Amino acid sequence: MPRPECRHIQVTGLVQGVGFRPYVYRLAQQLGLQGEVRNRSSGVRITVQGHMAALDQFLTELRRNAPGQRQEFSVEVAAATACSDFVIAPSQSDAGVASTLLVDQAICDDCRREFHDQSDRRYHYPFISCTSCGPRFSICRRLPWDRNNTSWRRFSLCAACRQEYESPLDRRFHAVGISCPDCGPVLFTADGLQGDAALQEACAVLERGGVVAVKGSAGFHLLVDAQNQAAVAGLRERKRRSKPLAVLAPTFEWVLENAHTEAAERAALKGAAAPIVLLRAYGEMQELLAPGLGTLGVMLPSSGIQLSIMRELQRPLVVTSANLSGAPLIYENDTALSALADIADAFLLHDLDLVQGLDDAVLRVMAGQSVSLRLGRGLAPQIHTVPVARSSLGCGAHLKVNLAMQERHTLIVGPYIGDLQGAGNRQRYLQQKSTMPAFFQIDAGTEVTDLHPDYGSSVEADDHALTVPHHVAHAMAVWLEHQPDPPFQALTWDGVGLGPDGTVWGGECLQFEAGMEWQRLGSIRPFQLPAGHDIARFPGRIARVLSGETYPGRSIACSSMGRLIEGLAALAGLREENLFEAQVAMEWEALGHRATNASHMDFTLVGADLDWRPLLPVVADRSVSLSARALGFHQALARAALRQCRLGRGDSVLLSGGVFQNRLLVELMVAGARELGLKLLLPGRLPPNDGSIAAGQCVALAMGAKQTGVSQQCA
Ligand SMILES: [Zn+2]
Ligand SMILES: [Zn+2]
Repeated sequence: MPRPECRHIQVTGLVQGVGFRPYVYRLAQQLGLQGEVRNRSSGVRITVQGHMAALDQFLTELRRNAPGQRQEFSVEVAAATACSDFVIAPSQSDAGVASTLLVDQAICDDCRREFHDQSDRRYHYPFISCTSCGPRFSICRRLPWDRNNTSWRRFSLCAACRQEYESPLDRRFHAVGISCPDCGPVLFTADGLQGDAALQEACAVLERGGVVAVKGSAGFHLLVDAQNQAAVAGLRERKRRSKPLAVLAPTFEWVLENAHTEAAERAALKGAAAPIVLLRAYGEMQELLAPGLGTLGVMLPSSGIQLSIMRELQRPLVVTSANLSGAPLIYENDTALSALADIADAFLLHDLDLVQGLDDAVLRVMAGQSVSLRLGRGLAPQIHTVPVARSSLGCGAHLKVNLAMQERHTLIVGPYIGDLQGAGNRQRYLQQKSTMPAFFQIDAGTEVTDLHPDYGSSVEADDHALTVPHHVAHAMAVWLEHQPDPPFQALTWDGVGLGPDGTVWGGECLQFEAGMEWQRLGSIRPFQLPAGHDIARFPGRIARVLSGETYPGRSIACSSMGRLIEGLAALAGLREENLFEAQVAMEWEALGHRATNASHMDFTLVGADLDWRPLLPVVADRSVSLSARALGFHQALARAALRQCRLGRGDSVLLSGGVFQNRLLVELMVAGARELGLKLLLPGRLPPNDGSIAAGQCVALAMGAKQTGVSQQCA
């Protein structure tokens, strides 16, 4: 009989909060192995002991079937010691980078089934969850992932829950968030109703057309009846919000009936992140919530709380983050009651404390691929691997800011915070900056920020912070996801960002060579951008500049694709003023998408720069329908971009920057690229917009991105 052997297995990746330890326990039991499994801050540590064949089988099964994603295993052989059992040992803190992340998970199918099962003791229980679902990052005070380190700590388990918690064969074996109606949190209203009575009252207010602030699993939402025009108008007025609104759909079937979906969109809707998915939709509700855009943001109920509301109301509800302008998402009862007093007619609260507020994630499918637009609940925090080790803290830019932090090869990307104009957002940003590296046990080292000295991130950065040009950060974020070998190109198209030459960039084609040396291969014909922070609000002014008027006052040379698109859309007669960011560009895209014919126009290529002047008379020709001009413009832009890229070296082209949130443009380009042998690489987990800048800053620093002929990139 061969002697027993012992192995230590260290697992990193997404392994906490996914039912990993119970899985390991059951597997070890099945194979008759001894030892232990425990969560550590840096991952999961397993010690298994037994005969070689069983140990090999253990490892094979573990690699193949363990829950969680992106796991890395390191195995170390040691001498066997005397032990007779397999146990889940208490969690431990250790010094390694916390490369195991906790992402909030939407309610799983098993919990959903129990929620609707009258005979189950968690029937209609709003806080139902298990080892594979429920809130994670939003309720975790410190790592490792253990009940005592979360908001669940103050709820003692009842006897029935205790028994499930300790039974290896139960699906809530060692579930951090185990609870039930007898021992868990409760719903209540501001005027003291509890449980089902609180729920009924909140739903009655919604039914009457009122606005209800609901505390969810990661922060507060404002809800109103989506079919009640007056209620929706009331919400917009109280929130002073003209932006598109999203819908919480009652059921998946409702989505299929009310929007066009393709496979990737249906998968995203039902995925564990439960994001808002931007779907193509038309009809009365679409026009009410996102006028002129032809899209509707749709989300499915992702928690027992939302399922509870839907079982009462069974109708679509408008769902929007509960925050004040310039301030972050509200996630505490007291703050909600005071800050939302003038907005909400009623409050549905609960007593599970939230540690982090996480906005809903937003995602759009383009060319069959999921592209994150906002790194909210379920999509962040994220973990990436950078090929070159480095320590840094990516500070972001100014809009849609988040943080990123790298130690050794591990890059952690934090959740969406917001724009840094508002004092509230800035406070939240500074708070995350001071706490998040410690939470993830990252020694972030050097701060990296945007080249623009007036951006909030730069103003708040330390004196020794290094800088990365905005568009290099954009390009490097997309590079991280695909890691093509040089040479390759990056189209970096967005609103504005400071270029290393001191002008405003935003329509660049960058050529990258070995060693991440880059140069500007091409751009667009520059125009004079009138100075002032609110220029993005008035595309009509850009239209006049493009038509040759000189604008009074100061101006700066600019090659912004975002501004060019908006200026041309305004010139076409679409609108003079944006009521929300990029409104005119989004309407221009929607018109193009619905067009049945297209007018013909083309950019000319001067060297490698796109000259837009030949477009002006065609775009301005009001004898042709707006939609035909819109489609013609998008086709011309897609053709021109591909021709420009063909002038560079390499077949891979990264698409980065907020302009590539435009699905029509991306899909026209992807269709055209195939014929030319170009491979377009889209953002995926990281957004095309400035939500990827922090990550890109870290990657630019690690990879040593530098402008050809310029001795030092980061200064
Ligand atoms: Zn579950
Ligand atoms: Zn219980």
